[in-house]
Amino acid sequence: MKNLIIANWKMNPSSQAEAKVIFDAIREGVKGINAAASARGFGEPTEVVVCPPAVYLYASVFGEGVVSMGAQNVYFEDKGAFTGEISAEMIKDLGAEYVIIGHSERRKYFGETDEVINKKIIRALEVGLKVIFCIGETQEEHDAGKKNEVLDRQIKLGLASVSDFGFSASNFAVAYEPVWAIGTGNNCGVGETKQTLSYIKSLLTLSGVEGQEVRILYGGSVKSENSGAYIKEAGANGLLVGGASLNAEEFIKILESAE
Ligand code: PEP
Repeated sequence: MKNLIIANWKMNPSSQAEAKVIFDAIREGVKGINAAASARGFGEPTEVVVCPPAVYLYASVFGEGVVSMGAQNVYFEDKGAFTGEISAEMIKDLGAEYVIIGHSERRKYFGETDEVINKKIIRALEVGLKVIFCIGETQEEHDAGKKNEVLDRQIKLGLASVSDFGFSASNFAVAYEPVWAIGTGNNCGVGETKQTLSYIKSLLTLSGVEGQEVRILYGGSVKSENSGAYIKEAGANGLLVGGASLNAEEFIKILESAE
């Protein structure tokens, strides 16, 4: 199974020129890593996806290359009077391959419910986008011992009927992102992450969505000092990296740690 590492740039950087500088540095770094891996003659290269703000998604900024593109959000209707929204067709037409759905910042600041997230996943799959489905508990839920209950609900409602809409292990990944670990520097311990990832795997299997095959990623204050342990010790099939992915040098170190 190929590892999958996603860069979530959130609402950064402030200009196309800056976006291009970061992206070009990441792409060159990935080329170097892939060349070194093939010279060693073993191992599948990590799949790398950059998710910039949607306005930077068009091909002329980033071009074709060794890095795939993804959007950070999508709307579930195909077209019409939905001011400010962007459809799955539009994202796909720009050349993006992936879309992040259910990020905790969307749930918190934009009121996205499990039901809305489910509609978005279905629409993205129908159009042929690959989905990175984010789940995770808040600090309060964690402290109240409700983590498993929350993950249970997010998976059950978020993935309702996805099997009928082209779901497969190759077009879907789950990112476990404890909300309390996102952007706080307080990353989840490797032992707890390991347990949680295997719990998520069992939930996916129960929901009948090929749980053993779906890649499960960890996200939340990932940096190059902790990234390797999530893959090598906690058993994550990849990472979702926010803040650290805006620093190309640091992001490349994170990618190297997964090799
Ligand atoms: C994220 O945006 O999904 C994220 C995990 O952010 P950070 O790496 O900055 O915690």
